[in-house]
Amino acid sequence: MEINEKALGLGSKRSVIREIFEYGNKRKAEIGAENVFDFSIGNPSVEPPKAVTQTLKELLKSENPMLLHGYTSAQGDYGTRKAVSDSINKRFGVCLTPDNIYMTCGAAASLSISLKAVLNAGDECVVFAPFFTEYTVFIENAGGKVVVALPREKDFQIDLRDFKSKINENTRAVILNSPNNPSGVVYSANTVRRVCEILKEKENEYGKTIYLIADEPYRELVYNGVKVPYLMNYYDDTIVCYSYSKTLSLPGERIGYIAVNSAMKDNKNVYLAVCGAGRMLGYICAPSLFQQVIKRCVDAKVNVKPYKENRDLLYNALTEYGYDCVKPDGAFYLFVKALESDAVKFCKKAMDKDLLIVPCDDFGVQGYVRIAYCVSTDQITRSLPKFKELIQEYK
Ligand code: PLP
Repeated sequence: MEINEKALGLGSKRSVIREIFEYGNKRKAEIGAENVFDFSIGNPSVEPPKAVTQTLKELLKSENPMLLHGYTSAQGDYGTRKAVSDSINKRFGVCLTPDNIYMTCGAAASLSISLKAVLNAGDECVVFAPFFTEYTVFIENAGGKVVVALPREKDFQIDLRDFKSKINENTRAVILNSPNNPSGVVYSANTVRRVCEILKEKENEYGKTIYLIADEPYRELVYNGVKVPYLMNYYDDTIVCYSYSKTLSLPGERIGYIAVNSAMKDNKNVYLAVCGAGRMLGYICAPSLFQQVIKRCVDAKVNVKPYKENRDLLYNALTEYGYDCVKPDGAFYLFVKALESDAVKFCKKAMDKDLLIVPCDDFGVQGYVRIAYCVSTDQITRSLPKFKELIQEYK
């Protein structure tokens, strides 16, 4: 084999989400977009905040184009990193400097860089099921081994006993994603506290650092005032991987950051390793124009009201029809028990009705599907009779 077999495999086989999304596009061309109920992909349906679009326009008019489109420092523009660290300090009472921040092309880059920075060949990285499917790709690319910790099925919080049993002397990192894709669950302060206590115990037992990587692209998408615990406040060896893809509705602009906790003993070296890993992976100098936008709009927020309305409409209707779902506190996904044990088969049946939903087998949980409700409310309303027909077929 003259080329990298692993890369060939990944390139040849799309993720299940992309597969269904591409099918949906084909089907829309055949029967009309309004007849396909595509709930496959997490593409935000709410516009970016006005402050963001307004700032973009002003920047394009007023600034020196060479400054806007030129390279910044590899780790990002100083002023942007300062705006980010100031905002984090103000919101969460921590003590970061611009030299704890590395600007990235979104959460995928933040995770790839962070994992490459802390993992050595053979190190284990624990992920909590259900988990974002790409974690496996990023961890394995960094030379690590994926270890899956199980959820409590009643509420999809973490099964702490199982988590504890999954940590050993080879564990180097743990990824925690809250609000969670695909369950929409926000891990409670109690769960987070216990996870961090276990990690501290294990660090002491094995005499080594175990990094907690907080994957936070949905931090701001929460409903009814639910609070998402900030992991740096619970555990010193925390690295936050943030993205503006969902929280400012900018997924195509590829902008986010890594924040290395200044309270971490070895934070200077970890930050240098982040810079080095960014260099190894070619993730230097995140998009300049959007770094300038973030500098000016660091505290802007999307309107989460439409997502909440969609959640309530879909959750209330599906539970009334008899579906069993976890009520999500955040993100824009509904995690629903499939009506047969094989979620892939169940999704195929839904697909026959042009309802495009995603089986969660690749998210590390069998027998569940994900419905991405970041769509128009009208699409949800028109899809409800299809969901009703689907459950009637199983009765
Ligand atoms: N992590 C999770 C949990 C996600 O759901 C996603 C995207 O859907 C990502 C990371 C990647 O985000 P980004 O588009 O910012 O790279």
